[in-house]
Amino acid sequence: TGITELLLSRIRDVADYPEPGVVFKDITPLLADPAAFTALTDALAEVAEHTGATKVVGLEARGFILGAPVALRAGLGFIPVRKAGKLPGATLSQAYELEYGSAEIEVHAEDLAAGDRVLVVDDVLATGGTAEASLELIRRAGARVAGLAVLMELGFLGGRARLEPALAGAPLRAL
Ligand code: IMP
Repeated sequence: TGITELLLSRIRDVADYPEPGVVFKDITPLLADPAAFTALTDALAEVAEHTGATKVVGLEARGFILGAPVALRAGLGFIPVRKAGKLPGATLSQAYELEYGSAEIEVHAEDLAAGDRVLVVDDVLATGGTAEASLELIRRAGARVAGLAVLMELGFLGGRARLEPALAGAPLRAL
């Protein structure tokens, strides 16, 4: 479709970043193009509406850039899921494994409640570790997962299969 081509044309492949052998998908050209950024925001907001989401969670850091306009467009509140140590209030945290070492993400506990249906937004789904931890966090906060929406899925890394249990039937939409 037209939108897929438009979005793909604004994502730059950067070889050997952040380390040799990795091809990094750089979305900064897309952000710099208001037509492409608007098309992306509209498409993700449509996912929010279709899934019946009541809140949008964005994953630090590019999930903030994409998720905030999506939340406003869909008329929903925006909740940041941050790397550990950045949120000032009472938090819930979730640790997860990386290729080398581990990481931890947090959310303000009071931002999510029973009755919320949360759409998680991020730029790139790779191994699925980050998204999986965020879905766990949302459930532990007492809220329900409405779905996961990303700009791009790196299918060869198997994130979709890994996320099946955590999604528990909620949709994963990759534009
Ligand atoms: P995962 O946890 O392996 O799925 O990695 C996903 C997280 O790393 C997301 O928050 C992405 O923003 C980031 N990420 C991984 N690969 C890329 C990439 O090629 N471009 C941009 N972000 C990436």
